[in-house]
Amino acid sequence: MDPGGIDVMHCSPAEFAERLAAENHTLKRSLINPALFSGIGNAYSDEIAHCARLSPVALTRSLDAAAAQRLLVATRAVLNGWTDRLRAEAARHAGWPPKVTAFRPGMAVHGRFGQPCPVCGSSVQRIVRANNETNYCPTCQTGGRLLADRALSRLLHASWPKHIDDLE
Ligand SMILES: [Zn+2]
Repeated sequence: MDPGGIDVMHCSPAEFAERLAAENHTLKRSLINPALFSGIGNAYSDEIAHCARLSPVALTRSLDAAAAQRLLVATRAVLNGWTDRLRAEAARHAGWPPKVTAFRPGMAVHGRFGQPCPVCGSSVQRIVRANNETNYCPTCQTGGRLLADRALSRLLHASWPKHIDDLE
């Protein structure tokens, strides 16, 4: 069963931009939608958004041509980088790596809540939904803005900080 997503490694920039704007959803939701793009999981979508310096909740139709192009370049860089790493790891273990997990050492933001962003040193933030977590760097990706985390903001009510400077 082919859900219909395009192959991001071989599509043209125009095809990529067209798919991106096909639905007006958040960047993250569109990237992991297998009907739009083939083979981008939750973990890699966080890494791709970080690499492209785009907010994971930016609406796809609000992205200009330059941002869409940057996203394509980031998508290929992240997927190629991890393919190489996984191949090297598999070769070392003479087979598939023993621990296959979405959280891998070497990721910039995914699974690294509270740890320093490898690019700028800011504390990696998260948005937790029912069964997945989005990680991002506020300095690199959202102009310092903290994205509302439903569970946490309910807990903190009005004291929910809006900007990374308010965390300190
Ligand atoms: Zn950063």
